[in-house]
Amino acid sequence: MTLTDVSHVTQRRLLVTDLPGPRSRALMERKLAAVASGVGTTMPVFAARAAGGIVVDVDGNHLVDLGSGIAVTTVGASAPRVVEAVRAQVAAFTHTCFMVTPYDGYVEVAEALNRLTPGDHEKRTALFNSGAEAVENAVKIARVHTGRDAVVVFDHAYHGRTNLTMAMTAKNMPYKHGFGPFAPEVYRAPLSYPYRDGDLDGAAAAARALDLVDKQVGADNLAALVIEPIQGEGGFIEPAPGFLPALAAWCREHSVVFVADEVQTGFARTGDLFACDREGVVPDLIVTAKGIAGGLPLSAVTGRAEIMDSPHVGGLGGTYGGNPLACAAALAAIETIETDGLVGRAREIGALMLERLRSLQARDPRVGDVRGRGAMVAVELVEAGGRTPDAALAKALASAAHQEGVIVLTCGTYGNVLRFLPPLAISDELLHDGLDVLETALGSLP
Ligand SMILES: *Cc1c(COP(=O)(O)O)cnc(C)c1O
Repeated sequence: MTLTDVSHVTQRRLLVTDLPGPRSRALMERKLAAVASGVGTTMPVFAARAAGGIVVDVDGNHLVDLGSGIAVTTVGASAPRVVEAVRAQVAAFTHTCFMVTPYDGYVEVAEALNRLTPGDHEKRTALFNSGAEAVENAVKIARVHTGRDAVVVFDHAYHGRTNLTMAMTAKNMPYKHGFGPFAPEVYRAPLSYPYRDGDLDGAAAAARALDLVDKQVGADNLAALVIEPIQGEGGFIEPAPGFLPALAAWCREHSVVFVADEVQTGFARTGDLFACDREGVVPDLIVTAKGIAGGLPLSAVTGRAEIMDSPHVGGLGGTYGGNPLACAAALAAIETIETDGLVGRAREIGALMLERLRSLQARDPRVGDVRGRGAMVAVELVEAGGRTPDAALAKALASAAHQEGVIVLTCGTYGNVLRFLPPLAISDELLHDGLDVLETALGSLP
């Protein structure tokens, strides 16, 4: 049983209808009549099966997956170990509620996260369902621990869609518009954004942010500083080297809880097990979700025992948090990452994609920036000859790729970033094929 056993789905792009095909079009009509229209669709094809680097739609089209369902199916959409583990667990029991009668899977996931996350201090973990729910709980824990209220987040940040996490998320449309009022005591600081902040180095960008925090919030009022080590929805923005270590050091000095939101960057995605590992940054609390459980809904807060144990007994939890199926899936996903060397595979994918995208950048001035680490790579599209964001081009390029059967996503505050999050189970051949489609599409767009 290996990760590459995807024999049930041919690993080749294959279009047997126009996209969307007739079955997808019929399902889309039913979706529009039955599902709230606020729940959008990136690509109007309905999935039937998926494995490796391919999603098969209901019309039999084979699509190249460069999105992993937004960085979730990192180990693959039907990773054999995950499928087996969930099958065994569903036959044993589906739910008891961990707070009512506990089960070992939850404890094992906590032990694994305590072992794998950055730092060798004593840790504790609590499990939840979604990334946003875990971010909220990290803030709750930090507030109890410090006895302070304020939370600092950053420009371009994305932390979720619940009330507190909407307040923490930067972008109005589509995440916040009309949904307020938002939770109080959330303050926003400037990020390090190398492509757009005039080569400000990491230390200088951190000093700029921390000076504002000091003047406008005050360390003594601050419970937590929450940051994505590489921003996801905000545009795959990787801060300049030194930025994260400087923030972490300042937090330590002022007893502010440093929270890394690794919901998108975690679990081998960036070519390290966690993105914080690259600069040796050790967060007080780390929030994980998305890639944690091979597609099942699970999230976690892991961190220093003395912080995690601050809330009173019964203060943390939830009906489904750490559901047994999700825990079984997480243990299988973690085993897959470790035994199949997926951290190394993410680095190989990164090297391949960055080389190809940089060569495209050298030939096309509309590719303003190519950035990312591991299997988390993006291109920022701009008007030729400058750095003016070109969201229309990003949208046209994504939809041209979709027409040809390549699943890609856009992101960024300005909507001008095309992002790539392939499953680590994808082959080099499929990556090259997907990138060929993109190159041709870009060449044909005015
Ligand atoms: C997706 C995401 C979240 C929210 O996770 P959900 O599971 O959608 O609630 C939070 N933080 C980051 C960095 C994310 O990418």
